[in-house]
Amino acid sequence: MIRKGFQFRLQPTREQEQQFRQYCGSVRWVWNRMLAERSEAYKETGKSPSAYRQIKQLPVLKQVEETAWLNTVQSQVLQDAVLDLDDAFKRFFSKQNGYPRFKNKHGRKQSFSYPQGVKAESGRVWLPKIGWVKFRQSREIQGVIKRATIRHRASGWHVSLLCEIEIEIPDPVEISTKNSVGIDLGSIDLVTLSDGRKVSNTRHYRSTERKLARAQRSLSRKLKGSKNRYKQKQKVARLHEHVANCRKDDLHKLSSQLIRENQAVFVEDLNVLGIAKRMGKSVGDAGWSKLIRQLEYKAAWQGKTVLKIGRYFPSSKTCSYCGYKHSDLALSERSWLCPSCSAFLDRDVNAAINIHKEGLKLVAAGYTETINACGQRIRHSPSAALVEVRISRL
Ligand SMILES: [Zn+2]
Repeated sequence: MIRKGFQFRLQPTREQEQQFRQYCGSVRWVWNRMLAERSEAYKETGKSPSAYRQIKQLPVLKQVEETAWLNTVQSQVLQDAVLDLDDAFKRFFSKQNGYPRFKNKHGRKQSFSYPQGVKAESGRVWLPKIGWVKFRQSREIQGVIKRATIRHRASGWHVSLLCEIEIEIPDPVEISTKNSVGIDLGSIDLVTLSDGRKVSNTRHYRSTERKLARAQRSLSRKLKGSKNRYKQKQKVARLHEHVANCRKDDLHKLSSQLIRENQAVFVEDLNVLGIAKRMGKSVGDAGWSKLIRQLEYKAAWQGKTVLKIGRYFPSSKTCSYCGYKHSDLALSERSWLCPSCSAFLDRDVNAAINIHKEGLKLVAAGYTETINACGQRIRHSPSAALVEVRISRL
Protein backbone atom coordinates (compact mmCIF):
# COMPACT_ATOMS: atom_id res chain seq x y z
CA MET A 1 0.00 0.00 0.00
CA ILE A 2 1.37 3.35 -0.97
CA ARG A 3 -0.04 6.86 -0.80
CA LYS A 4 -0.01 9.08 -3.81
CA GLY A 5 -1.35 12.58 -4.38
CA PHE A 6 -3.34 13.77 -7.37
CA GLN A 7 -3.97 17.43 -7.99
CA PHE A 8 -6.57 19.01 -10.20
CA ARG A 9 -7.90 22.41 -10.98
CA LEU A 10 -11.52 22.74 -9.93
CA GLN A 11 -14.21 24.41 -11.98
CA PRO A 12 -16.67 25.44 -9.29
CA THR A 13 -19.87 27.36 -9.92
CA ARG A 14 -20.18 30.79 -8.38
CA GLU A 15 -22.24 29.38 -5.58
CA GLN A 16 -19.67 26.69 -4.87
CA GLU A 17 -16.89 29.24 -4.88
CA GLN A 18 -18.86 31.16 -2.30
CA GLN A 19 -19.11 27.99 -0.21
CA PHE A 20 -15.39 27.34 -0.56
CA ARG A 21 -14.67 30.81 0.78
CA GLN A 22 -17.04 30.23 3.64
CA TYR A 23 -15.37 26.92 4.44
CA CYS A 24 -11.92 28.50 4.39
CA GLY A 25 -13.19 31.26 6.66
CA SER A 26 -14.72 28.81 9.12
CA VAL A 27 -11.63 26.66 9.24
CA ARG A 28 -9.56 29.77 9.87
CA TRP A 29 -11.94 30.86 12.62
CA VAL A 30 -11.76 27.46 14.33
CA TRP A 31 -7.98 27.45 14.05
CA ASN A 32 -7.65 30.94 15.52
CA ARG A 33 -10.11 30.32 18.34
CA MET A 34 -8.53 27.03 19.38
CA LEU A 35 -5.06 28.53 19.11
CA ALA A 36 -6.06 31.42 21.37
CA GLU A 37 -7.55 28.98 23.84
CA ARG A 38 -4.48 26.81 23.89
CA SER A 39 -2.18 29.80 24.30
CA GLU A 40 -4.21 31.20 27.20
CA ALA A 41 -4.54 27.88 28.96
CA TYR A 42 -0.82 27.34 28.58
CA LYS A 43 -0.04 30.72 30.09
CA GLU A 44 -2.29 30.07 33.06
CA THR A 45 -1.64 26.44 33.84
CA GLY A 46 1.37 25.44 31.79
CA LYS A 47 -0.79 22.85 30.03
CA SER A 48 -2.84 23.14 26.91
CA PRO A 49 -6.12 21.35 26.14
CA SER A 50 -5.98 18.25 23.97
CA ALA A 51 -7.29 18.11 20.41
CA TYR A 52 -9.92 15.67 21.65
CA ARG A 53 -11.25 18.19 24.15
CA GLN A 54 -11.25 20.95 21.58
CA ILE A 55 -13.11 18.83 19.05
CA LYS A 56 -15.78 18.14 21.68
CA GLN A 57 -16.39 21.89 21.89
CA LEU A 58 -17.44 22.18 18.26
CA PRO A 59 -21.01 20.86 18.69
CA VAL A 60 -21.41 23.16 21.68
CA LEU A 61 -20.33 26.17 19.62
CA LYS A 62 -22.91 25.22 17.00
CA GLN A 63 -25.65 25.54 19.61
CA VAL A 64 -24.60 29.07 20.55
CA GLU A 65 -26.38 31.73 18.56
CA GLU A 66 -23.34 33.80 17.58
CA THR A 67 -21.51 30.80 16.25
CA ALA A 68 -24.46 28.89 14.87
CA TRP A 69 -23.16 29.60 11.36
CA LEU A 70 -20.64 26.80 11.95
CA ASN A 71 -23.55 24.47 11.15
CA THR A 72 -23.27 25.32 7.48
CA VAL A 73 -19.83 23.69 7.33
CA GLN A 74 -19.35 19.93 7.31
CA SER A 75 -18.29 18.89 10.82
CA GLN A 76 -15.32 16.76 9.79
CA VAL A 77 -13.81 19.72 7.99
CA LEU A 78 -13.91 21.68 11.25
CA GLN A 79 -12.55 18.76 13.25
CA ASP A 80 -9.74 18.51 10.76
CA ALA A 81 -8.80 22.13 11.46
CA VAL A 82 -8.43 21.27 15.16
CA LEU A 83 -6.27 18.26 14.31
CA ASP A 84 -4.22 20.41 11.97
CA LEU A 85 -3.56 22.83 14.81
CA ASP A 86 -2.66 19.91 17.04
CA ASP A 87 -0.09 18.81 14.44
CA ALA A 88 1.31 22.33 14.35
CA PHE A 89 1.77 22.16 18.12
CA LYS A 90 3.40 18.76 17.90
CA ARG A 91 5.84 20.14 15.35
CA PHE A 92 6.48 23.08 17.65
CA PHE A 93 7.16 20.85 20.66
CA SER A 94 9.50 18.64 18.66
CA LYS A 95 11.31 21.82 17.55
CA GLN A 96 10.56 21.28 13.88
CA ASN A 97 8.60 24.50 13.57
CA GLY A 98 7.95 27.78 15.31
CA TYR A 99 4.95 28.53 17.49
CA PRO A 100 1.67 28.25 15.53
CA ARG A 101 0.42 31.57 14.23
CA PHE A 102 -2.96 33.10 13.77
CA LYS A 103 -4.31 32.96 10.25
CA ASN A 104 -5.76 35.91 8.46
CA LYS A 105 -7.99 36.34 5.48
CA HIS A 106 -5.17 37.51 3.27
CA GLY A 107 -2.78 34.74 4.19
CA ARG A 108 -1.38 32.58 1.45
CA LYS A 109 -2.80 29.31 2.60
CA GLN A 110 -6.55 29.37 2.20
CA SER A 111 -7.64 25.77 2.37
CA PHE A 112 -9.78 23.14 4.02
CA SER A 113 -9.66 19.36 4.11
CA TYR A 114 -12.00 16.42 4.23
CA PRO A 115 -10.56 13.44 6.10
CA GLN A 116 -13.10 11.17 4.36
CA GLY A 117 -16.30 11.01 2.37
CA VAL A 118 -14.88 12.35 -0.89
CA LYS A 119 -15.37 10.44 -4.12
CA ALA A 120 -14.50 11.18 -7.71
CA GLU A 121 -15.70 10.09 -11.11
CA SER A 122 -14.88 11.28 -14.59
CA GLY A 123 -14.46 15.02 -14.38
CA ARG A 124 -16.24 15.64 -11.09
CA VAL A 125 -15.56 15.24 -7.42
CA TRP A 126 -18.05 14.81 -4.58
CA LEU A 127 -17.46 17.02 -1.56
CA PRO A 128 -19.75 16.25 1.39
CA LYS A 129 -22.30 18.98 2.08
CA ILE A 130 -21.17 20.90 -1.03
CA GLY A 131 -21.95 18.36 -3.71
CA TRP A 132 -20.47 17.54 -7.10
CA VAL A 133 -17.80 19.96 -8.28
CA LYS A 134 -16.42 19.81 -11.80
CA PHE A 135 -12.70 19.64 -12.42
CA ARG A 136 -10.30 19.37 -15.31
CA GLN A 137 -9.16 15.79 -15.17
CA SER A 138 -5.64 15.86 -16.52
CA ARG A 139 -4.76 12.34 -15.37
CA GLU A 140 -6.33 9.18 -14.09
CA ILE A 141 -6.96 8.86 -10.37
CA GLN A 142 -5.67 5.57 -8.98
CA GLY A 143 -6.63 3.82 -5.77
CA VAL A 144 -8.95 4.84 -2.98
CA ILE A 145 -9.32 8.49 -1.95
CA LYS A 146 -8.27 8.86 1.66
CA ARG A 147 -8.22 12.59 2.03
CA ALA A 148 -9.05 15.69 0.01
CA THR A 149 -7.80 19.24 0.40
CA ILE A 150 -9.30 22.22 -1.40
CA ARG A 151 -6.93 25.14 -1.85
CA HIS A 152 -7.16 28.59 -3.24
CA ARG A 153 -4.30 29.68 -5.45
CA ALA A 154 -3.69 32.62 -7.74
CA SER A 155 -5.02 30.64 -10.67
CA GLY A 156 -8.17 29.53 -8.87
CA TRP A 157 -9.37 26.61 -6.77
CA HIS A 158 -7.57 23.28 -6.72
CA VAL A 159 -8.19 19.94 -5.13
CA SER A 160 -5.54 17.48 -4.02
CA LEU A 161 -6.63 13.93 -3.49
CA LEU A 162 -4.49 11.67 -1.37
CA CYS A 163 -5.07 8.12 -2.52
CA GLU A 164 -4.09 4.75 -1.21
CA ILE A 165 -2.92 2.43 -3.94
CA GLU A 166 -2.00 -1.21 -3.77
CA ILE A 167 1.12 -1.94 -5.79
CA GLU A 168 3.43 -4.83 -6.31
CA ILE A 169 7.01 -3.90 -5.59
CA PRO A 170 9.45 -5.65 -7.95
CA ASP A 171 12.31 -7.66 -6.50
CA PRO A 172 15.49 -5.64 -6.27
CA VAL A 173 18.21 -6.21 -8.86
CA GLU A 174 21.83 -6.44 -7.79
CA ILE A 175 23.48 -3.03 -7.64
CA SER A 176 26.49 -2.47 -9.91
CA THR A 177 28.56 0.44 -11.18
CA LYS A 178 26.49 0.50 -14.33
CA ASN A 179 23.03 0.55 -12.82
CA SER A 180 23.75 3.12 -10.13
CA VAL A 181 24.56 6.80 -10.04
CA GLY A 182 26.05 9.35 -7.67
CA ILE A 183 24.47 12.78 -7.34
CA ASP A 184 26.06 16.02 -6.25
CA LEU A 185 23.60 18.69 -5.24
CA GLY A 186 24.44 22.21 -6.28
CA SER A 187 22.98 25.64 -6.58
CA ILE A 188 24.13 26.60 -10.08
CA ASP A 189 23.29 23.16 -11.37
CA LEU A 190 20.58 21.56 -9.33
CA VAL A 191 22.26 18.21 -9.69
CA THR A 192 25.44 16.89 -11.27
CA LEU A 193 25.55 13.17 -11.98
CA SER A 194 28.57 10.91 -11.75
CA ASP A 195 28.30 10.24 -15.49
CA GLY A 196 28.95 13.93 -16.10
CA ARG A 197 25.41 15.07 -16.83
CA LYS A 198 24.28 18.33 -15.28
CA VAL A 199 20.75 19.46 -14.70
CA SER A 200 20.32 23.19 -14.46
CA ASN A 201 18.18 24.77 -11.80
CA THR A 202 16.07 26.92 -14.08
CA ARG A 203 15.70 25.21 -17.39
CA HIS A 204 12.37 26.00 -18.88
CA TYR A 205 11.14 28.99 -17.02
CA ARG A 206 13.81 31.62 -17.45
CA SER A 207 11.48 33.57 -19.71
CA THR A 208 8.66 33.37 -17.17
CA GLU A 209 11.03 34.62 -14.52
CA ARG A 210 11.89 37.59 -16.68
CA LYS A 211 8.19 38.26 -17.14
CA LEU A 212 7.73 37.99 -13.41
CA ALA A 213 10.46 40.53 -12.74
CA ARG A 214 8.86 42.91 -15.20
CA ALA A 215 5.41 42.43 -13.68
CA GLN A 216 6.80 43.07 -10.22
CA ARG A 217 8.44 46.31 -11.32
CA SER A 218 5.17 47.41 -12.83
CA LEU A 219 3.35 46.52 -9.61
CA SER A 220 5.62 48.75 -7.55
CA ARG A 221 4.65 51.71 -9.73
CA LYS A 222 0.89 51.20 -9.33
CA LEU A 223 -1.03 53.39 -6.93
CA LYS A 224 -1.79 51.73 -3.58
CA GLY A 225 -5.42 50.71 -3.22
CA SER A 226 -6.16 51.18 -6.92
CA LYS A 227 -7.94 48.64 -9.04
CA ASN A 228 -4.98 48.44 -11.41
CA ARG A 229 -2.71 47.57 -8.54
CA TYR A 230 -5.05 44.79 -7.49
CA LYS A 231 -5.12 43.39 -11.03
CA GLN A 232 -1.35 43.59 -11.32
CA LYS A 233 -0.98 41.88 -7.96
CA GLN A 234 -3.03 38.95 -9.21
CA LYS A 235 -0.95 38.80 -12.36
CA VAL A 236 2.24 38.58 -10.28
CA ALA A 237 0.69 35.87 -8.11
CA ARG A 238 -0.29 33.85 -11.18
CA LEU A 239 3.23 34.10 -12.59
CA HIS A 240 4.67 33.01 -9.25
CA GLU A 241 2.39 30.03 -9.29
CA HIS A 242 3.41 29.19 -12.83
CA VAL A 243 7.11 29.24 -11.96
CA ALA A 244 6.46 27.11 -8.88
CA ASN A 245 4.53 24.61 -11.01
CA CYS A 246 7.32 24.39 -13.57
CA ARG A 247 9.84 23.77 -10.82
CA LYS A 248 7.70 21.07 -9.31
CA ASP A 249 7.17 19.46 -12.66
CA ASP A 250 10.89 19.50 -13.38
CA LEU A 251 11.72 17.92 -10.05
CA HIS A 252 9.22 15.13 -10.64
CA LYS A 253 10.57 14.45 -14.12
CA LEU A 254 14.12 14.38 -12.80
CA SER A 255 13.39 12.08 -9.86
CA SER A 256 11.35 9.72 -12.05
CA GLN A 257 14.12 9.56 -14.62
CA LEU A 258 16.84 8.92 -12.05
CA ILE A 259 14.89 6.09 -10.46
CA ARG A 260 13.88 4.63 -13.83
CA GLU A 261 17.44 4.58 -15.09
CA ASN A 262 19.07 3.23 -11.95
CA GLN A 263 18.76 0.48 -9.39
CA ALA A 264 20.52 2.63 -6.82
CA VAL A 265 20.94 6.36 -6.38
CA PHE A 266 23.59 7.71 -4.04
CA VAL A 267 23.19 11.19 -2.71
CA GLU A 268 24.63 13.40 0.00
CA ASP A 269 22.78 13.53 3.27
CA LEU A 270 21.00 16.81 3.53
CA ASN A 271 20.20 16.52 7.18
CA VAL A 272 22.90 19.02 7.73
CA LEU A 273 22.15 22.56 6.80
CA GLY A 274 25.12 23.97 8.68
CA ILE A 275 27.53 21.75 6.82
CA ALA A 276 25.94 22.46 3.47
CA LYS A 277 26.44 26.13 4.23
CA ARG A 278 30.08 25.60 4.99
CA MET A 279 30.31 23.85 1.66
CA GLY A 280 29.19 27.09 0.10
CA LYS A 281 25.79 25.98 -1.04
CA SER A 282 22.76 28.18 -0.93
CA VAL A 283 20.70 26.25 1.52
CA GLY A 284 17.62 28.25 0.81
CA ASP A 285 16.98 26.07 -2.18
CA ALA A 286 14.11 23.90 -1.07
CA GLY A 287 14.51 21.90 -4.26
CA TRP A 288 17.03 19.52 -2.75
CA SER A 289 14.96 18.15 0.07
CA LYS A 290 11.97 17.82 -2.23
CA LEU A 291 14.08 15.98 -4.78
CA ILE A 292 15.44 13.57 -2.18
CA ARG A 293 11.99 12.93 -0.77
CA GLN A 294 10.70 12.14 -4.25
CA LEU A 295 13.67 9.90 -4.98
CA GLU A 296 13.04 8.01 -1.77
CA TYR A 297 9.39 7.26 -2.26
CA LYS A 298 9.72 6.55 -5.95
CA ALA A 299 12.57 4.16 -5.20
CA ALA A 300 10.46 2.46 -2.55
CA TRP A 301 7.65 1.92 -5.05
CA GLN A 302 9.98 0.22 -7.51
CA GLY A 303 12.11 -1.87 -5.20
CA LYS A 304 15.10 0.39 -5.74
CA THR A 305 17.53 2.01 -3.37
CA VAL A 306 18.38 5.53 -2.35
CA LEU A 307 21.44 5.72 -0.13
CA LYS A 308 22.34 8.90 1.69
CA ILE A 309 26.06 9.33 2.06
CA GLY A 310 27.43 10.72 5.31
CA ARG A 311 27.80 14.26 6.22
CA TYR A 312 31.54 14.72 6.66
CA PHE A 313 32.53 13.05 3.47
CA PRO A 314 34.78 15.53 1.59
CA SER A 315 33.36 14.72 -1.84
CA SER A 316 34.54 17.84 -3.68
CA LYS A 317 38.02 17.87 -2.18
CA THR A 318 39.07 14.33 -2.94
CA CYS A 319 40.49 13.47 -6.36
CA SER A 320 38.22 10.81 -7.80
CA TYR A 321 41.13 9.24 -9.72
CA CYS A 322 43.88 8.89 -7.13
CA GLY A 323 42.30 9.83 -3.83
CA TYR A 324 44.50 12.88 -3.23
CA LYS A 325 42.91 15.28 -0.77
CA HIS A 326 42.99 18.92 -1.82
CA SER A 327 42.15 20.31 1.60
CA ASP A 328 42.47 24.00 0.77
CA LEU A 329 40.20 23.91 -2.28
CA ALA A 330 38.40 27.25 -2.33
CA LEU A 331 34.64 27.37 -2.74
CA SER A 332 35.00 29.58 -5.78
CA GLU A 333 37.15 27.05 -7.64
CA ARG A 334 34.85 25.30 -10.06
CA SER A 335 37.59 23.02 -11.34
CA TRP A 336 41.06 21.99 -10.24
CA LEU A 337 44.15 20.16 -11.36
CA CYS A 338 45.12 17.25 -9.14
CA PRO A 339 48.75 17.87 -8.03
CA SER A 340 49.27 14.17 -7.52
CA CYS A 341 47.96 12.55 -10.72
CA SER A 342 47.46 15.63 -12.97
CA ALA A 343 43.79 14.87 -13.57
CA PHE A 344 41.75 17.91 -14.46
CA LEU A 345 38.61 17.79 -12.36
CA ASP A 346 35.29 19.53 -12.63
CA ARG A 347 34.40 20.24 -9.03
CA ASP A 348 30.82 18.92 -9.18
CA VAL A 349 31.39 15.93 -11.46
CA ASN A 350 34.31 14.93 -9.27
CA ALA A 351 32.11 15.16 -6.19
CA ALA A 352 29.38 13.09 -7.85
CA ILE A 353 31.90 10.40 -8.84
CA ASN A 354 33.16 10.26 -5.26
CA ILE A 355 29.64 9.93 -3.97
CA HIS A 356 29.02 7.16 -6.47
CA LYS A 357 32.18 5.34 -5.36
CA GLU A 358 31.34 5.76 -1.69
CA GLY A 359 27.84 4.41 -2.30
CA LEU A 360 29.19 1.37 -4.14
CA LYS A 361 31.66 0.78 -1.32
CA LEU A 362 28.79 0.68 1.14
CA VAL A 363 26.86 -1.69 -1.05
CA ALA A 364 29.92 -3.93 -1.39
CA ALA A 365 30.37 -3.85 2.36
CA GLY A 366 27.13 -5.75 2.61
CA TYR A 367 24.57 -3.06 2.87
CA THR A 368 22.35 -4.59 0.24
CA GLU A 369 20.59 -6.91 2.65
CA THR A 370 19.99 -4.25 5.24
CA ILE A 371 18.87 -1.78 2.61
CA ASN A 372 16.08 -4.09 1.66
CA ALA A 373 14.81 -4.50 5.18
CA CYS A 374 11.90 -2.29 6.07
CA GLY A 375 12.17 1.01 7.85
CA GLN A 376 15.43 0.41 9.66
CA ARG A 377 18.06 3.03 10.25
CA ILE A 378 21.64 1.94 10.40
CA ARG A 379 24.57 4.03 11.44
CA HIS A 380 28.01 3.05 10.41
CA SER A 381 31.33 4.81 10.34
CA PRO A 382 33.93 3.41 7.96
CA SER A 383 37.13 5.38 7.47
CA ALA A 384 36.25 7.98 10.08
CA ALA A 385 33.48 9.39 7.93
CA LEU A 386 30.09 9.20 9.51
CA VAL A 387 27.88 7.41 7.10
CA GLU A 388 24.24 7.22 7.56
CA VAL A 389 22.28 4.72 5.62
CA ARG A 390 18.64 5.38 5.52
CA ILE A 391 16.40 2.76 4.19
CA SER A 392 13.94 4.11 1.77
CA ARG A 393 10.93 1.98 2.24
CA LEU A 394 7.65 3.51 3.27
ZN1 LIG B 1 44.48 12.73 -8.53
